[in-house]
Parts: sequence; structure tokens; C-alpha cells
Amino acid sequence: MASLFKRVASKALLSVVAVGLTVSLAAGPAAAQDYPSRVITMIVPFAAGGPTDIIARIVSEHMARTLKQTVVVENVVGAGGTTGSTRAARATNDGYTIVMGHMGTHAASVALYPNLAYKPDADFEPIGLAAGTPILIVAKKDFPAKDLKEFVAYVKANTDKMNAAHAGVGSVSFTTCLLLNSVMQVKPIAVPFNGTGPALNALLGGQVDYMCDQIVNLVPHIQGGTIKAYAIGTAERNPALPNVPTSTEAGLPEFQASAWNALFAPKGTPKPIVDKLSAALDQALDDETVRKRLLDLGSDIPGKDRRGSQALATLVKSEIAKWTPIIKANVTN
Ligand code: ASP
Repeated sequence: MASLFKRVASKALLSVVAVGLTVSLAAGPAAAQDYPSRVITMIVPFAAGGPTDIIARIVSEHMARTLKQTVVVENVVGAGGTTGSTRAARATNDGYTIVMGHMGTHAASVALYPNLAYKPDADFEPIGLAAGTPILIVAKKDFPAKDLKEFVAYVKANTDKMNAAHAGVGSVSFTTCLLLNSVMQVKPIAVPFNGTGPALNALLGGQVDYMCDQIVNLVPHIQGGTIKAYAIGTAERNPALPNVPTSTEAGLPEFQASAWNALFAPKGTPKPIVDKLSAALDQALDDETVRKRLLDLGSDIPGKDRRGSQALATLVKSEIAKWTPIIKANVTN
């Protein structure tokens, strides 16, 4: 009797499993077709008000209109952006959680965190590049140097007193100032923040001396004279800040630094869903208002050939290959 009961029970269980399987198999394409049927969360792995947050809010606003669904930006801070990126890598891969990563979270952190919980080039489905963001060397308004040469001389002479702000180990500001400090051969006191939004506030308030940051955080403050900009780490000057010299013009050609922000979904997110997200990002980047907002902030809008999943997958691999040796050389110095 007991074994008969067991047989019946296990048969029932099997058919429940079978029904479950049919339902979940059928849910795949249907879910992709109906996508998005509820709110999408875009994780920003840094504090509100900084470059990653600004870019996320500009593109998500337009993507929401294309997708006809709300896109909520959620700031998940910590560990140079790797906390929020880990959360995204582990999220359900149904397209309802995506992350605005960047050159730090999805390239530099590989060399800086031996136990990084995700592989940027394996644990995500790349959606697309959102913006290129040149890096500037900026200092507090009353920093006693009129140009980059004087800045280098002053930092070298006063290294013990210098506070350099960054957004955590692995962040863009950390990595690019690692390069700058190594070129200047200095080791200032590094002051971490949860993003360069709060780091900029400290710079504006004069509590820290200098930092390296993505241009989108800085343009109005440089224009308004509330912080000083000594150089931009790109080959050309930026149209949003035509008076800021390139690092080469200013005498420090070794400082070549440019970053980017890009959207990623967790590995295994169905391709039709990733494609919908890529197409929505593409449309955002074609929109005149979005373009104006991004260009006014100094960012570089990717052309069609640099957009979409494939181009981003290639970029992530090449950026890991580019930054790993730079970081390894400078961290051990
Ligand atoms: N720009 C920052 C960084 O240094 C992060 C942020 O967007 O706040 O990585």
C-alpha cells in the first residue's frame, strides 16, 4: 500500500515537473515577445550625480519611451563599481535587470581584483556602448598651479600633503590617476568615494586636491571656474572645453586616458530581449535631444559601427588587454 502510494505520488510529481517544463519552455519565446511587460531596473554601480549615473539617466529616459516601459535607475554602490556589477551578473537573466558598466567595472577591475566575482567578457550579454568619456586632470579651484607643468612640480614637491579623490579601487578615476601618479612618480593619499559625484563635491569644497575623471561630470564646473582643469587625456581637444589643452600639448604625453560607459545584461538573457535593448539604446543615441545633452557634457557618441552587442564584446576584450599590463606595471611600482 505504502509503495503503491509512493509510486502514485512520484508519478504525480513527475507530471508536475513535466508540466512545469512545458510551461517554462513555452515561456521563453513568449516572454521575449511580450518583453518588456514590467519595470526594468538599470543598475548604476556608483553614487547618484556622477558620470555613470548622468549617462544612465539620459539614455534610460529615451529607452523607456521606445520600450514603452518604465526604466528605474538603481544606484548600487561599493568596491569601485564591482558590487553593483556583481549584483547584475547574478540577477535573473530575463532582461528586467541590466547594468550601466564602464571601463573600470568591465575592464580595469579584472587586474585589480584577483577574486572578482564576475568575468566582464563572459558573464554578461553586451547590449551596447552608450558613450565615450575622455578623462581630465582636475584640481580644486585654489590649487596653486597655473598649468600642467606647475601642477606636476607642485604635486611632486608636496606629495605627502596631497589628497587625490577616486571612486574606489577598480573605478575609472582610480585607474586613470594610477597612470597619472605613476607618470609623475608620486604616491599621494588616495581618498575613496562611492562615485565621482561625491568626489567632485569634495573637490568643489576644497577637501581634496585633485582627481582624474570622466568629462561628463566636469564641464559646467570647469566653465564656471569652480574647479581647475589642467589637461584632457585624448589626442584632440574636446569641443565642449576648447580651452583645455591635451596632455601632449601640456607636456605630459604619457597620460593618455579615455573611458566609456556601456550597458550589459546578465549572461543568458535571451537574444531577442538583448536585441530589443540594443535597438532602444541605438534609437536613444540617434535622438537629437539625447545627442545634444551628451555632446554638451563633452562625451563622444559612438557611431553606428561602434554600437550594439558585437562591437561592445570586442571593446571589452580589447580594454581588458589594454589596461591589465598598465595596472600590473603601476600597482607593483
Ligand atoms: N566616474 C567614476 C569612476 O571613477 C564613477 C562614477 O560614475 O561615479 O569610475
